Amino acid sequence: MIIIINVTKTHLPNKEKFVKYVDEIYESGQITNKGQFVRLLKEKLEEYLNVKNLLLVSNGTTALQVAYKALNLKGEVLTTPFSFVATTSSLVWEGLTPLFVDIDKDTFCMNYNKIESKITKNTSAILPVHVFGNGCDIEEIEIIAIKNNLKIIYDAAHAFGIKYKDESILKHGDISVISFHATKIFHTIEGGALIIKDDDTYRKAERLINFGFSGVDKIDDIGINAKMNEFQAAMGLCVLDDMVEIIEKRKAIFKIYENGLKNNEELQFQKYNINCNQNYGYFPVVFKDEKSLLEIKEKLEKEQIYPRRYFYPSLDKLAYINSEDMEISNDISKRILCLPISDSLDPKDAHRILDYINN
Ligand SMILES: *Cc1c(COP(=O)(O)O)cnc(C)c1O
Repeated sequence: MIIIINVTKTHLPNKEKFVKYVDEIYESGQITNKGQFVRLLKEKLEEYLNVKNLLLVSNGTTALQVAYKALNLKGEVLTTPFSFVATTSSLVWEGLTPLFVDIDKDTFCMNYNKIESKITKNTSAILPVHVFGNGCDIEEIEIIAIKNNLKIIYDAAHAFGIKYKDESILKHGDISVISFHATKIFHTIEGGALIIKDDDTYRKAERLINFGFSGVDKIDDIGINAKMNEFQAAMGLCVLDDMVEIIEKRKAIFKIYENGLKNNEELQFQKYNINCNQNYGYFPVVFKDEKSLLEIKEKLEKEQIYPRRYFYPSLDKLAYINSEDMEISNDISKRILCLPISDSLDPKDAHRILDYINN
């Protein structure tokens, strides 16, 4: 059997454990609408992440959309061109205009020095991304937001378990949004959450994800259906039990790559925020040019190894976007490749991947 190695592999927890939850769901007869396991997962995640006002939803993209509505955003939103497409497409979908702020060439996060020159009278918020789990310049961004009366939403899709100065990074911003998609380090099959600073905004978001209902037969807001269901929550409860092992195993792979590539002078690596820990969600490598990236990628693909061009293309190049050129984001996008990393990747395969890159 030929083993295909993808950029990541979903962690599937112990099946018997999951089936026990499924049995309980069958017994209760309640499969969605704030059932027992959604309530339990919320509680456990708030404890694990040490946050309050965590609202579970059906996926990370709807979490972003609900966040924009909960904060009543209008007009332009400043965001980063170096992210998964959902960061930008969710804005456009909600009738907002994304305006890009280029990234820092070392951290790959939004360059806060370039924010203020982009603010206009129509700007309502800043939407930075803790890309690959690398914390943004939290304090600098907050100062700019306060001074200019802007909301901050962090796309923290990659930032599960990340701390900034020993506190969850998800506490920052008016809202932080996280994804629990199967490709992320913690997952609920599909899923996501909002972590909301202000209690009233939290209660509003709770209504928004359930059609705007504020009580039986009482509808106060224009809502949507963004609820997490019991099967998703059951998966989350199982995966959460395995987090220590998941992170340890990913860390081992990460260290193999890090040690094996650090002397390769043709490569560049992401510079991590010194105020944050790491969750080993991704291992991005920047090649000297696009040509060498494509050569390595082809070589690996012949061996059934499929790294991914996260993130390519730079989002300012999307067909439905009219933006000035984001020079640094485009440069990094063309040269960056995320190597396979997961808790089930055999360290031998990580060494094999190293050999292909170094030779
Ligand atoms: C995965 C991801 C999303 C979207 O999350 P889904 O749960 O897949 O909808 C948004 N932003 C970033 C940066 C992501 O990586």
